[in-house]
Amino acid sequence: MNSGLRREIVNLVVSGLFILILGALTGYTLELLVVGLIGYISWYLYSISKLVKWLARPTKVFPESKGIWGELYYRIHHLYQRQRKARKKLKTIVNRFQDSTQALPIAAIVFNRNNEIEWFNQAAQRIFNLQQAKDVGTRINNLIRQPAFTNYLLKRDFKEMVELEFNHRQLSLCITPYGHNQLLLTARDITQQQQLDDMRRDFVANASHELRTPITVISGFVEALCDQADSRIKTPLEKIQQQTVRMQQILEDLIVLARLESKEAPLLHVRVDLEDLLQQVYNDALMLDHDRHEIIISTQPASIMGNSVELQMAINNLVTNAIRYTPENGIIRIFLNNDDVGVHIGVEDDGIGIMPEHIGRLTERFYRVDPGRSRAQGGTGLGLAIVKHVLDRHNASLHIDSVPGEGSLFRCDFELFDEEEK
Ligand code: ADP
Repeated sequence: MNSGLRREIVNLVVSGLFILILGALTGYTLELLVVGLIGYISWYLYSISKLVKWLARPTKVFPESKGIWGELYYRIHHLYQRQRKARKKLKTIVNRFQDSTQALPIAAIVFNRNNEIEWFNQAAQRIFNLQQAKDVGTRINNLIRQPAFTNYLLKRDFKEMVELEFNHRQLSLCITPYGHNQLLLTARDITQQQQLDDMRRDFVANASHELRTPITVISGFVEALCDQADSRIKTPLEKIQQQTVRMQQILEDLIVLARLESKEAPLLHVRVDLEDLLQQVYNDALMLDHDRHEIIISTQPASIMGNSVELQMAINNLVTNAIRYTPENGIIRIFLNNDDVGVHIGVEDDGIGIMPEHIGRLTERFYRVDPGRSRAQGGTGLGLAIVKHVLDRHNASLHIDSVPGEGSLFRCDFELFDEEEK
């Protein structure tokens, strides 16, 4: 039992005894008890009203009292002080967080599951023309109306970023769900980066175009010289010719890549018969291979929307690689099948295979597992980069599976879309 309560009980007992003695002496016990009780209740009511008054407007100074009420006032005041300190600390943290997010160059917008904006920072005000008073409560999909963003929001799959144009700026957006049904949208202005990318792409495309003619001329002359050369200089001339052919192949691939990057993605409204396309790839492969491998084809009727020239080039690249990296008499299987998920085109070989650490980087430009081998086989290091670009333009993905020494599988997965979506 705490000291306040003990004192209160002692006071009550002493007062009761006093009233009883006084009552016995005067003969007014009952009346004195009633008066004592009224006094006690009044004291309680007064103390409660003092507490209620203080609770309505708590101050640093708390009401003083004796006994249980003093104890009660002290404890409530102590709780109040603790809560005040915690609130102050929380406010400092929130302020610090808000100051840092306000200073961020990245736009940040917090919105709820009804897509209503709840908070945004200064960069968001600048990038999205938001106004604090007016735009809190606005739906995010009314602010950013591009179909790419609407789809991103609807899909609720926020693993990847979405790029779009807003107010003549190129933005990279990302949504992160957090807390209880809260969503944080962050947007980065990538206009400058995009301009630099465009410049780099234009430079490579222009340089490749400029180099094409001189190399063709050199190649022509070297070929002519080769025909007339005596045995002493024939070998070096043949080496020069091989290198010019390599340069021409690299330039052609660079030009193809630049074209794929600069052109808009193909309008996916032309239906491509994949069985036909694969048959052509197979015929080309037979011509290229000169019976060095066993090439097998297995197909099912399937078609997708896309660009047949680009698709054929991509699959050709996969088959050429299979021929390049599979020792003689190996088996190469070209297949086409479809299931509930989509359409799959694959090229499988039982060739040299690839170590797992290289697989994630194979579609980078000029990335080769063994540069010497690739060059010796006539590779440019750009084949899979071209495949990746073509697939991206068809909303498809490349799946690579390989075991060193056993072989590789390169599979292109095309999602199924409703006809109306295109
Ligand atoms: P390259 O012109 O060098 O073949 P690619 O971009 O087509 O360039 O391929 C990149 C690298 O991936 C190749 O250098 C090779 O190391 C590896 N690669 C591609 N296809 C295969 C395959 N079927 N088997 C083994 N390695 C492969």
